[in-house]
Amino acid sequence: MTLLQVKGLGKSYNSETQVLKNVDFEVNAGEFVSIIGPSGAGKSTLLRCINRMVEINEGKVIFDNADVGSLKKNELRKLRTNIGMIFQHYNLVPRLTVIENVLHGRFGYKTTLQGILGRFTEEEKERAFILLKKLGIEEHAYKRCDQLSGGQQQRVGICRALIQEPKLVLCDEPIASLDPNSSKVIMDHLKSITTEMGITCLVNLHQVEVAQDYSDRIIGLRKGEIVFDGPSKQLHENQ
Ligand code: ADP
Ligand code: ADP
Repeated sequence: MTLLQVKGLGKSYNSETQVLKNVDFEVNAGEFVSIIGPSGAGKSTLLRCINRMVEINEGKVIFDNADVGSLKKNELRKLRTNIGMIFQHYNLVPRLTVIENVLHGRFGYKTTLQGILGRFTEEEKERAFILLKKLGIEEHAYKRCDQLSGGQQQRVGICRALIQEPKLVLCDEPIASLDPNSSKVIMDHLKSITTEMGITCLVNLHQVEVAQDYSDRIIGLRKGEIVFDGPSKQLHENQ
């Protein structure tokens, strides 16, 4: 089943430079796809067009049968509960605890930053703990996020993105700030937990070897255009 269609997508932030040009691809439910390309190729912009963190200039993004570009505000909110995001710099709230950050991912902005935990039910906290356990960080649940290592913070980021059980998770350079050991831990977790939960994954990476190790399919972007889209093992034959 097709979960995402990107059709003739074009994006520019200002009239002079076209950041994405006629980008076309489809992603089936359950796929784990890496997007590779040098810095400035347009990888982040592509992910931001998919959940409409930036406006689309040309073409269409169809996610789960919805035309993302034409959604109204309340429909957009619903769309984003079905699309989790994982960032290079984790984007956690540093002075909140791990469990508060995770619960934010699901129930976020109905709360104030004070006394968040008291607003959640035992059942909601239990769900958060199940994820923290899977990622091996439950012992840190009540620590502030700024006391954790980068790799641990990214595991919190994964929990926060997945607690809402999205259909798709967009990962923007999830390991670019991590050392090789932590990178492996993060990619292993990301792959296994999204597979287990049946969540489709689009991952921006600049390391080709990592993309080849973890994904069956790679999309190569260069200067805003797709230059490769196919099975990982065919990548080198084409370059
Ligand atoms: P990548 O993720 O592959 O490094 P980006 O999508 O971040 O690529 O950037 C692609 C191009 O778009 C770059 O030339 C960058 O400078 C430009 N760009 C990114 N974000 C903005 C923005 N908010 N305003 C203007 N230009 C931007
Ligand atoms: P990354 O490649 O990790 O996304 P960048 O340094 O390219 O990091 O971008 C950091 C932030 O600055 C992003 O939010 C991006 O949208 C914004 N940005 C990048 N290039 C430009 C630009 N030319 N003009 C305005 N904002 C930009």
